Amino acid sequence: MGEFDFIERLKRAPKEDVLSIGDDAAFFDGYLVAKDILIENIHFLPTTPIEMVIKKLFVSNISDICAMGGYPKYCLLGISIPDKYTFLDNIVIAINKMTENYNIELIGGDTTKSRSDIFLSLTVIGKPYKNLLKRSGARPGDLVYLSRSVGLSKVSLEKELEVVDFNVDPYLHYKNEPELKLSKYLSESSFVSSCIDISDGLGRDASHISKQSGVRIIVEQNKLDSSIFNGLSLENPIDYIISSGEEFALLFTVKSENNEEFESACREKFPDVRSIGYVTEGEGVYLKDSSLMTNISDSGFEHKI
Ligand code: ADP
Ligand code: MG
Repeated sequence: MGEFDFIERLKRAPKEDVLSIGDDAAFFDGYLVAKDILIENIHFLPTTPIEMVIKKLFVSNISDICAMGGYPKYCLLGISIPDKYTFLDNIVIAINKMTENYNIELIGGDTTKSRSDIFLSLTVIGKPYKNLLKRSGARPGDLVYLSRSVGLSKVSLEKELEVVDFNVDPYLHYKNEPELKLSKYLSESSFVSSCIDISDGLGRDASHISKQSGVRIIVEQNKLDSSIFNGLSLENPIDYIISSGEEFALLFTVKSENNEEFESACREKFPDVRSIGYVTEGEGVYLKDSSLMTNISDSGFEHKI
């Protein structure tokens, strides 16, 4: 079974005033809460520097808070450490560095031994800057935006896994930053109708907006930025753009009446933001290349359980 079918089975009718399973973070009593797990030999290799892993653990959670229009305040850390990690200083230093860097207070957690692999789980608690950004508000006529170019995380992951031999940093995908400044701007404006962060891949993440908003999303191929792959001889750069995960860029829709105002504000403040498509009636996520439409709703990653 895929992870998303499993999650569907866990869903129950949420209590009033609670945003429950299904968005990037839960929301209740004014707080946003997100959780992510990283496991050795599933999410990273025994050879991956632990500081990189800890950075991704924090960023993936903070990015979920950003996708809701919020900022992080507190966190709880779960960690299970096998005997082979005899030198714990670098783990402690990396965790302190993250809490300082992102101004988060570690307020609790749990620590255990494990048999052979290291397990890390982080829960981040945050607050919305102003308006909550959800996956569910996109409407036909809205434009679709991406906060920055995506695709290199997948190339770098393949380099780390020794699938490709391009001249790319194999740890680049551990170094992405969450979109904290943009999250503030989007939450404080009233332009945004839906938002998600790119953790599984553009196609798959756009399909969460599509499903929860009850709309079709059209991604225009000629608006995607392949220039980030300059110098790499990729056979199909578009495949990388639509399926690269753990980018932590934001994908969002802006109400049709606010597009112009939004774009002129972005030119100054957020020059990397680009329009990549539009919303129509219907369902699914389609890549449009001239008159050719390809369904890309499943482009990206899903854990099979
Ligand atoms: P993201 O990629 O943004 O972290 P996920 O795809 O991991 O989101 O999860 C989608 C939604 O399902 C989120 O609201 C998440 O909290 C929820 N979810 C995932 N796993 C579980 C679980 N085991 N129990 C309850 N909710 C879950
Ligand atoms: Mg997310």
